[in-house]
Amino acid sequence: MTDLITDADLVRLFPGQPLTHDSAAHYRGRLERRLLINRCTDCGTWQQPPFPICPKCWSTAVVPTEVAGTGTIHLVVFLYQGPPAPGVDYSTPYPVATIELDEQPGLRFTSTVIGAPNDDIVIGKRVTLDWIDRAGTPLPVFRLTEGAAS
Ligand SMILES: [Zn+2]
Repeated sequence: MTDLITDADLVRLFPGQPLTHDSAAHYRGRLERRLLINRCTDCGTWQQPPFPICPKCWSTAVVPTEVAGTGTIHLVVFLYQGPPAPGVDYSTPYPVATIELDEQPGLRFTSTVIGAPNDDIVIGKRVTLDWIDRAGTPLPVFRLTEGAAS
């Protein structure tokens, strides 16, 4: 289905996002609520943000691949102010979290954590991928994993 989504559609659907030839597949995946991260099919190395060449073996056999969506909060900051953005309330303040994904040490994806008070969003806690709608398109976010030891 998303093969029918043209590059022009992506630009229209994701205004202001860093759309490139290398990231287009990632954004097409978002439309299907699949978190796609580039992975080298020769050596298995994941990379984020996406580049056309594997940083480990220099292979160009890099394929957008779905991740499990589980990980650990590596870094979190709380924004008290920032550029106006749909669905972002800085008065809370707004958490921006970098998640280390389970697929590979150092493989990190930055988004936000929802469904928890800010005091509970701390480094080292386990999280699971979820999706919300923001500005008309699915946005990958994370929730604290129920029952996980922190
Ligand atoms: Zn490689």
